[in-house]
Amino acid sequence: MSEDHQSVWGASRFARPGDGWADVGRGLAEVAAAVSDHHHGAPLPSGDPVAVLGGVTALLGPHGIPETGIGETEALTRLARLVAEFGLDLTHPMAAAHLQPAPLSVAVAADALASATNASLDTYDSGPATLALETWTVQSLARMAGFGEHAGGVFSPGGSISNLLALMIARDHTAARRGVDVRHDGVGALHRPVVFCSRVAHFSVHRACAALGLGESAVIPVDVDSHHRMIPEALEAAIRESGPATPLAIVATAGTTDFGTVDPLGEIADIAERHEIWMHVDAAYGFGSLFSDRLAGLLAGVERADSITLDLHKVGWQPAAASLMLLSDADRFVSLNRSVAYLNPDDDVEAGYSGLLGQTLQTTRRPDVLKVATTLLAYGRRTLGEMLDKCNDLALYAEQRVATELQLELVAPVTLTTVVFRYRCTDLDAVNGELRRRLIADGKALIGRTQVRIPGEDEPQTCLKLTLLNPETSESDIDELFDELLRVALEVESEGTAAPGAETHSEEMVRVSE
Ligand SMILES: *Cc1c(COP(=O)(O)O)cnc(C)c1O
Repeated sequence: MSEDHQSVWGASRFARPGDGWADVGRGLAEVAAAVSDHHHGAPLPSGDPVAVLGGVTALLGPHGIPETGIGETEALTRLARLVAEFGLDLTHPMAAAHLQPAPLSVAVAADALASATNASLDTYDSGPATLALETWTVQSLARMAGFGEHAGGVFSPGGSISNLLALMIARDHTAARRGVDVRHDGVGALHRPVVFCSRVAHFSVHRACAALGLGESAVIPVDVDSHHRMIPEALEAAIRESGPATPLAIVATAGTTDFGTVDPLGEIADIAERHEIWMHVDAAYGFGSLFSDRLAGLLAGVERADSITLDLHKVGWQPAAASLMLLSDADRFVSLNRSVAYLNPDDDVEAGYSGLLGQTLQTTRRPDVLKVATTLLAYGRRTLGEMLDKCNDLALYAEQRVATELQLELVAPVTLTTVVFRYRCTDLDAVNGELRRRLIADGKALIGRTQVRIPGEDEPQTCLKLTLLNPETSESDIDELFDELLRVALEVESEGTAAPGAETHSEEMVRVSE
């Protein structure tokens, strides 16, 4: 193999159209082989964080960029080994912690294509094909949401950023209607701007308000019912009590992160309409319900929103990031528009050479759309809906299992694919927290946790959570997971809940670095 001016494992250093891809293919084959050789066969590597992270550093060597490279094959296989040995495996049936699914192979392949083209979306000449593809995909998803022909939207790096983008546009739109130019004058020109959302809305709403210069105190939390859904009468009262404030938006959640529950979208839309307030629906988790005939009804009313956040790296089985922010009226992107001499000069735009620079806070933007469009074409709505139905079935099965175990208590009924429960014992918070850490340290099961305000109890309590997004998981896998959980719970309860001592740390370190 010639090493001189040639790639170590091929003829080209770049993924050129044609032959360069053969090198990419060989590289992927090397990665696949290294992953199989070193795979730990569990959802997580065993060991505590010090040992696991120490293992990674040991494979990399001391900090510092090598003066001479180790070559492509060695670099790829070492990193693949590192990820296989010390990373997580989301395809494992006992990986059930977060809204973080194993991605579809077809989407991973298409994502490599996105990397290889390195196209952007800001200008026509930064990537014409992906520009048209994004428009096609945005319009297709907007149609599924029930939006009309004026709809628009844009891909973003995640649901948190989609929420930020939507709230920024809501802020600017609301201000403009009151004759205030926030873009120029800043938020100081607005009288006490506020945003309404339920008490269990995602924290990114608060963070967006901080980023937008409104402060987190701009968020007015609205009470929820026993199913963790916003109470419309409480929203109405909160708006009334906010007095002379400037309401920028009502954020309804369609699929709360913990419970999958959906705020009453139709009733909230009525209130938003009556008070002329922007309605944003955070459907980061729940949007995928629209793929399913069985679950689509949960989102009735979403078509009345002004903006929607959706994450296809959750229900959609995409590698992150695959998030979108949809607008019912694309004209409202106006405040994000910019004219930049070296990107989109007016005469180019007039001649049709325009891009999507004016719809986002980014400039260079990765074509995440490629994997999404490939997946939608490959499987269609029906298969994606069936995948979600299967995950919903698994959650319902898990719910039943919780109900039959005396030691377990169901905390909330299943709506989508999460199951929230806890292990009954005297020292609830400590035992449930330690139980999850123990499962993680053993590497055998990866489950989630959260805090829930349970009726009749003063303080929010630590609960356990399964987020089931793997349609290949079986009912017997679920049973095995609960068997393991109950076994470890007994162990933790009988030991008391003292944190593992420092000796355990150093023993693990020695074992892993050997
Ligand atoms: C996951 C989630 C988000 C944040 O999305 P990211 O893609 O993780 O940034 C926002 N809202 C809800 C309801 C979510 O579940």
